[in-house]
Amino acid sequence: MSRRTWANWARTVRCTPRYLVHPCSEREIVAAVLLADRAGLTVRAAGSGHSFNPLATTDGVLVDLTGFAGIENIDQDARTVTVRSGTSLSAVSAALLEVGLALPSIGTLAEQTVAGALSTGNHGSGFKHPALSGLVESLRLATADGTVREFSRDGTPELFRCALTALGTLGVITSVTLRCVPSFNLRVSEHSESLASLLERFEEWACSAEHVACSWMPWGDTVTSRFLVPTEEPATAQAARQRYATTVSEVKAGLIGLSAGLAPHGVPTLSRLLADRSAGPAGYVDAAHRVFTFPQPVKFVALEHALALPDVPDALNELRGVLRRAGRYSPYSVLVRVGAGDDVPLSPAYGRQTGYINLTVPRSAAFLELHRAVETVLRDFGGRPHWGKAHTATAEVLAPRYPLWDEFQRVRGELDPQGRFTNDFVARVLGPTAPGQLLERS
Ligand SMILES: Cc1cc2nc3c(=O)[nH]c(=O)nc-3n(C[C@H](O)[C@H](O)[C@H](O)COP(=O)(O)OP(=O)(O)OC[C@H]3O[C@@H](n4cnc5c(N)ncnc54)[C@H](O)[C@@H]3O)c2cc1C
Repeated sequence: MSRRTWANWARTVRCTPRYLVHPCSEREIVAAVLLADRAGLTVRAAGSGHSFNPLATTDGVLVDLTGFAGIENIDQDARTVTVRSGTSLSAVSAALLEVGLALPSIGTLAEQTVAGALSTGNHGSGFKHPALSGLVESLRLATADGTVREFSRDGTPELFRCALTALGTLGVITSVTLRCVPSFNLRVSEHSESLASLLERFEEWACSAEHVACSWMPWGDTVTSRFLVPTEEPATAQAARQRYATTVSEVKAGLIGLSAGLAPHGVPTLSRLLADRSAGPAGYVDAAHRVFTFPQPVKFVALEHALALPDVPDALNELRGVLRRAGRYSPYSVLVRVGAGDDVPLSPAYGRQTGYINLTVPRSAAFLELHRAVETVLRDFGGRPHWGKAHTATAEVLAPRYPLWDEFQRVRGELDPQGRFTNDFVARVLGPTAPGQLLERS
């Protein structure tokens, strides 16, 4: 343990906890929670710090789970994998591949920890695919009183659902069992069309492939869709190169972002100058986990809201108007993804088929105003902000957007009656802890 500074991936958030703990066992995690209790400090769990906001910070006890990693068990018959909570999604995918299994859907990044991803509602894109939490069979949670409880969908449904996406406020997740599928390849194809034509048939587009996403530079009228379809075909020769094409365009956006900090109105011109006209649309086959993700060397800040699927076309049209009137743009495209609804009280996809609208901006202060303008539009359309991304919402704004908000708060009050698992940011987005009655025994 030592008094050192912790920073998130984007280097936009820092904290200097009294105790920075790197547990190597479940017992050490429990010890860290009890240390906080004895010292009257708050305690927060941190994964790989890929959240863009101060969710994981504390000046009390910070439990850094990145060293608590590894596969505990793979059950090939049941098709499940049990992992320590600090295991990265990339490590899970690599271990599964060796035994012919895979996760059915993940987001664009694989470096975050399983528990951090679950806790913030991490998702990929696919009309039939819920967020990562939809794959969880059971999890173990070290709670404020120093006990470790196991929650599962069958055994303790309410506690289980609440613990799946809880922003680290119910305790420290120590291990997670995830459902898998046989490993599979995906065929990637791209198609460009006008934004207007895609929005006209948006819901049909959303279910036009197993995984669909589209990106759009808001100063233009063209949108590029990416379709991923499971296939029996083997990986194609140029797959590795194609995968890095996205990384290259992110690096270009990062470079434009550096200069655009001085001249934010010049983004469209710079982007056109750097556009790679030799590159045609992507078309290749590769293992699913390599298709979903790509290496991301550039630091940025992202904002993302989950909207009811039918609201997405109007929200994008409104966004276009607002951005064009302001004449300011990010060098990164607006990314639109889709997902199934779920029954997790704090999931941004709770209870509805969801369209996710993401805007990434460079870290420069020059782009803050742009983020605020976009957030206002998405909030007016009933958007629920991604818990791990940048946003300014408070508990007053958020509570009415989550029908099971009170159920979650009741469970939170029971599992953490003294409010140990909190910080200023958590207090802003969830409000204070309210002790109450536990509904289920675990
Ligand atoms: C480059 C990049 C790409 C991204 N792509 C996507 C994407 O495609 N889809 C998407 O949905 N999101 C995406 N995100 C957001 C990011 O994946 C999530 O915010 C995720 O939470 C980060 O996981 P982490 O391990 O870094 O958690 P952290 O950021 O370290 O922590 C996040 C939260 O989880 C809690 N937590 C962490 N570990 C535990 C634990 N063991 N027990 C209890 N609580 C815990 C923390 O207290 C905190 O509240 C992206 C972020 C970046 C930087």
